[in-house]
Amino acid sequence: MGGEEINYVKEAFDTNWVAPLGPHVEGFERECALHAGVRSALALSSGTAAAHLAALQMGIQRGDTFFCSSMTFVASLAPVVQCGATPILIDSEPESWNMSPSALERALADAAASGKMPRLVIAVNLYGQSCDMDKIIQLCSSYGVPILEDAAESLGAAYKGRQTGSFGKFSFYSFNGNKIITTSGGGMLLSDDEEAIAHARRLSTQARDRAPWYQHSELGYNFRMSNVLAGIGRAQLKLLEQRVAARRAVFDRYYQALAGHPGISFMPEPEWSSSNRWLTAMTVDPCASGTTNIRVMEALEAQDIESRPVWKPMHLQPVFKGVRYYPHDTGDVSASLFEDGLCLPSGSNLSPDDQDRVIEIVLRQIRD
Ligand SMILES: *Cc1c(COP(=O)(O)O)cnc(C)c1O
Repeated sequence: MGGEEINYVKEAFDTNWVAPLGPHVEGFERECALHAGVRSALALSSGTAAAHLAALQMGIQRGDTFFCSSMTFVASLAPVVQCGATPILIDSEPESWNMSPSALERALADAAASGKMPRLVIAVNLYGQSCDMDKIIQLCSSYGVPILEDAAESLGAAYKGRQTGSFGKFSFYSFNGNKIITTSGGGMLLSDDEEAIAHARRLSTQARDRAPWYQHSELGYNFRMSNVLAGIGRAQLKLLEQRVAARRAVFDRYYQALAGHPGISFMPEPEWSSSNRWLTAMTVDPCASGTTNIRVMEALEAQDIESRPVWKPMHLQPVFKGVRYYPHDTGDVSASLFEDGLCLPSGSNLSPDDQDRVIEIVLRQIRD
């Protein structure tokens, strides 16, 4: 928390706008839409709920297929699978670690040849970095397939100077506790399609018809964000620029200290990307470095410092065994990133001294 959040929460209490909706929800939606540069936004209980409502607005149906980046957190696609659709997974490119345009192109061509196009393509902005959107948008629009942009991790990041969260037919942010800003839990669905957002808004509050009594012509969900949490979000959003700068500084410090060492590489940032560096992600090549990502993780763990492997790709998950997968031209990029990848402690409030401890432990592993 930055400090100002409590004033917003207090205002919610003082005005008795505690029960679900209220002025902070509307304010937070307005401010997020403005930030992303889209016409309309909908505050929800989670990013997962946002993905779910987006898929429904995009007409997802039982028996449909959809495409999704393989290298992601399961919440990108779980709600869409739960709607009865089958995923087809797309590999990453080495340049951005995000969806490979060439793998996507092959998958789209195969879908067209088979006569069954995917209902939507979920493009995930991994670790706060945008996909190569121009290429992905161009491919998808040439086949008439809409994009759902998973910007859960990339709030504050830009592609060619434009904020992420504005590239999909629908896009969403997450305000889960681990993200760059948080409401303790929450999400935001974004789109230029005001009518679709209005319908998603109805679905998110149990789909009540306009009637004096409780009347329903369709079934909805209880997915709305509360006014108290939206107040936290409004104060947090003001900190975003500062947070991005802090995360980028954490990355730069790791990079300066570690990047020159054999076998150590960092998630690249193509010239079209301005990442928020939500997490500093690196790879440890066992041959060149003489150690492994797991050994570095264990060495950190022994000093009570938490680090994490990178996302285990969806095509390697037991739950998606047998699901169709399109690797990049040069091989299975996401599998090899998972093999060697490691996310270092990256909090916005990580002190230089604490970061030096991490760096020291990593260096000792490389040398030993
Ligand atoms: C966090 C996250 C989500 C889900 O957001 P929640 O608010 O936790 O439901 C979806 N996709 C990605 C890539 C995420 O990191």
